[in-house]
Amino acid sequence: MAETRKTKVLIIGSGPAGYTAGVYASRAMLDPILVQGIEPGGQLTTTTEVENWPGDTEVQGPDLMVRMEAHAKAMGCEIIGDIISSVDFSKRPFVCQSDSGTEYVADAIILATGARAKWLGLPSEEKFKGFGVSACATCDGFFYRGQEIVVIGGGNTAVEEALFLTNFASKVTLIHRRDELRAEAILQDRLHKNPKIEPLWFHQLEEVIGTENPNSVEGVKVRNVKTDEITEIPCKGVFVAIGHAPANELVADTLETHMGGYVVTKPDSTETSIPGVFAAGDLTDHKYRQAVTSAGMGCMAALEAERFLAADEG
Ligand code: FAD
Ligand code: NAP
Repeated sequence: MAETRKTKVLIIGSGPAGYTAGVYASRAMLDPILVQGIEPGGQLTTTTEVENWPGDTEVQGPDLMVRMEAHAKAMGCEIIGDIISSVDFSKRPFVCQSDSGTEYVADAIILATGARAKWLGLPSEEKFKGFGVSACATCDGFFYRGQEIVVIGGGNTAVEEALFLTNFASKVTLIHRRDELRAEAILQDRLHKNPKIEPLWFHQLEEVIGTENPNSVEGVKVRNVKTDEITEIPCKGVFVAIGHAPANELVADTLETHMGGYVVTKPDSTETSIPGVFAAGDLTDHKYRQAVTSAGMGCMAALEAERFLAADEG
């Protein structure tokens, strides 16, 4: 029989926002339940060094997230490996169904489902996904020892991925549609100093080319955005690093969103358009999208949920 779990606060997501909300809600004696989702620890588990988490000059992303989980658990947060499949915010208490069949019933909800990698949407990208096309250098970089690879994008992720991939690859071509990077200065500096990385400015990926049975990447066709000229670059791996989109599928029909799907919250608050439902982290943040800002919003959400529940009881 399907189990029903009741809680004052259900936290959906286990990135910096979710775990910080877990710490604060536990210390507020709200006995929160946190559902981790498909990626326990969130996006930072897909990277290596994190150099801007205060208190750690350098920390491995996965290690930081293990510590955050342990911290939330130690404060009393119940952490469950499950995935929320649907939410019903039409009346309180709110009801959430999950992949395991468990129904979670909660007086307040903290949404912290973060963001996911964007893809270019090319048929050839789809065809070779998992066979030479990837969005995670830390996961797949190891397979490209001594090979030539390309990285698409010009933000922090693209530059970090390119730098990381030089640990394995013989050459990394960074393909960017402009001649200016969005990445922060320190990363740009490292990129330009790395002899294994060659930037290719004003180019877009047109097609991934390769062989079939088994699928294997042999190169890419790129288009010069100024001249439309098509060039082929031989490579064995293609890393797409063109940004992230908010993971809003649970709430896109229910909550107000803007700027490409980010959940709208009230100014200086994590309150959404439904009282008792709070949103924190990359799900709502189109501007900063950092671990520390996500954690800050997780704190805000828990404090606001506490006040909401106290007002409800009073
Ligand atoms: P996320 O970390 O995205 O976590 C979302 C969580 O929600 C996941 O646990 C997921 O399983 C869960 N979830 C999603 N859907 C469901 C569901 N239906 N049911 C249950 N759970 C669900 N920021 C920095 O400050 N410094 C860095 O050095 C840095 N490096 C980065 C490197 C890379 C490669 C990437 C991709 C990002 C990096 N960032 C960095 C950005 C940082 O990772 C994010 O800003 C931060 O992780 C966002 O935290 P979050 O808690 O909002 O969500
Ligand atoms: P981002 O900052 O949004 O950058 C995306 C890059 O991809 C941009 O250069 C963009 O080009 C390019 N792009 C987007 N769509 C494209 C398309 N269809 N075709 C070709 N190129 C395309 O994304 P991100 O680098 O993933 O970073 C996301 C957030 O996480 C940021 O807030 C970032 O600071 C944070 N993060 C932080 C760190 C860190 O602190 N060390 C590391 C990783 C990520 P244009 O520039 O032309 O728009």
